[in-house]
Formats: sequence, structure tokens, C-alpha cells
Amino acid sequence: MPLPNIDPNLLKGPAFYKVMQRHVISPRKQELNGYPRPHPYCKNRVVINATNLNSFRPKSAVSLALYERICDRCNTRYNVNSTGSPLGEQGVCCYHWGRSFRNPQTKTSNPFTCCGQNSEAKGCTTAKWHISNIENITNLEDYVQTKEKPPPTDDDYGIYALDCEMCYTTEGSDLICITVVSSDCKIAYKTLVKPSNPVLDYNTRFSGITEDDLRDVTTTLEDVQTFLLNLFSSKTILIGHDFGADLRALKMVHDTVVDTSIVFPHARGPPLKRGLKKLVFDILEKTIQNEGHNSTEDAIACMELMIWKVKHFLG
Ligand SMILES: [Zn+2]
Ligand SMILES: [Zn+2]
Repeated sequence: MPLPNIDPNLLKGPAFYKVMQRHVISPRKQELNGYPRPHPYCKNRVVINATNLNSFRPKSAVSLALYERICDRCNTRYNVNSTGSPLGEQGVCCYHWGRSFRNPQTKTSNPFTCCGQNSEAKGCTTAKWHISNIENITNLEDYVQTKEKPPPTDDDYGIYALDCEMCYTTEGSDLICITVVSSDCKIAYKTLVKPSNPVLDYNTRFSGITEDDLRDVTTTLEDVQTFLLNLFSSKTILIGHDFGADLRALKMVHDTVVDTSIVFPHARGPPLKRGLKKLVFDILEKTIQNEGHNSTEDAIACMELMIWKVKHFLG
């Protein structure tokens, strides 16, 4: 779709901040989408409403013992020790890394996107360990929250887009990479991050990051939190795609969020969400994530999607 000609000054500074504000989601919407939110009465704690998170849903129906988990990838019930490490000899994790979508009209499932096999086929990929994100909803003490800061003279608190990559550890998923881009799509901050817990799977297919990449990395999650709390105020607009997952990985609560998975909803409504790759192809007619995810590419794509949205609104 051709874009209208817009005064470029409307796409930066206070004017851009003002027009972007209409897309900021409410605290209630954050809650419904699995964002970490301040606990209503326990100071220094957060709550995450996991009922709408796809990856948590199968688990909410089963009760698990303290040291029991259900694998996110293959649904196997397995046991861990008191530090969260899977116990040995529980079989390899055999799974499909792609998806098989159910077609509501024909009531059949499409073949898996990874291997083209039918939806009942045994997994096409194996991994040494089963993995589970369940710890992310119980271990919530080390969260930080962005702070209120004095208003800038021009009321422009800044707009950034963020994307994180995660790996699987004994405590759920851990941050391993983050890119922050400014409203002109330039990199404001980018770093690899040393995972906080023992790694079970580097998730290289999706994160694009290998064990080797992280070997000499010393930057910790706390270092990243400190940098971001300095760069952002609670009123800085942060843009991301299904951004609750990024804020959970960053262990950060933030009030002023634009979520491109909500601005551009799925045709069949929530909790279904359009993937970023497909969304960017449909809207911007660009191909991203050709060789797995890349946090810089994804963050720039989120900023470009919102620039597109604002141009259309103003045009
Ligand atoms: Zn598994
Ligand atoms: Zn497969």
C-alpha cells in the first residue's frame, strides 16, 4: 500500500510521542496478555497472569508435584532436582520446532511447518533435555520497575523498540541478547547477556545465538536492567511484538507499552497473535527472520510497523 506524504517532523520528537500515545495499552490489557505487573499488595513483587499464554495453557489443567514439569516442546511429564535440572534417563526430547495450525473450517490440522509431516507425526527434531518455562511464573522476586522521572521540557519521554532473545535454562527461559532501537531505527543499545542459570538449550534455531557466542560474555541481566532503568523513564514508550515475553525475560515492569501484536490483531481475535515475520511481510512487504531471529532486525521491524501505522493515521 503506498504511504501518504507526511511532514517528517511529525515522526520524531514530541509530535511523534503524542501520536504514539493513542496506541499505549492499558494496565488491564497488559495483565490479560501475560505482562509482569506490580503485585496489588505485596511491595517488591510482581504477578503474571498466565492463563492466556499459549505456552502455559496445557499446564494449567494438570496439577504437578513440586519437582515435576511438563515439557514445553513435547508434553512429556518429567522430573527435576531441587535446583531445577532435569534428572537423567528420562528420554530425549523429541519434538517439532515448527507448528501445525488447525483450520477451523475444515476441522483438520495443516502439516507441520518444520518438516511437512502430518499433525500426528512423531517429532522431527531431538534435544538432550526437556525444557519448561513454568519457573517464570513462580520465581518473581528479582524484577525491577522503570522509575518516574521529571518531565522533559518538550514532554517527549522518548520512544524505543526492543527485542530480546532467550535460551532455555533450569529456571525457565533466560535473556541472552537484547537490542534497543530509537525512533529513527538506529541502535541505542545492543548486548549479549550471560544467562543467569545453567543452560539446557541455546535455542539457536530461533535465537541465532550459539554457546560459542556467549563463551566470553560477562554482561549480566542486572547490568542490562541498570542500563535500561537509566535510559527509560516509566513514561518512555516501549514498542515490541508480544512484548510481555520480552519484559518477562528482562524481569522488568513498565507502564507505557505499545504491542504490535495488539495494534495489528489476528483476524480471528485474541488470544491468537500474528507472528512478526508474517505481519512484516503483509504490512511492510519485507522478508525478515530468513535465518532465524535477529533481535536488531526484529526491533527495527517493530519500529517500522508503528511508523507505518502512524503515517496511515495522519495521512
Ligand atoms: Zn521434551
Ligand atoms: Zn517437524
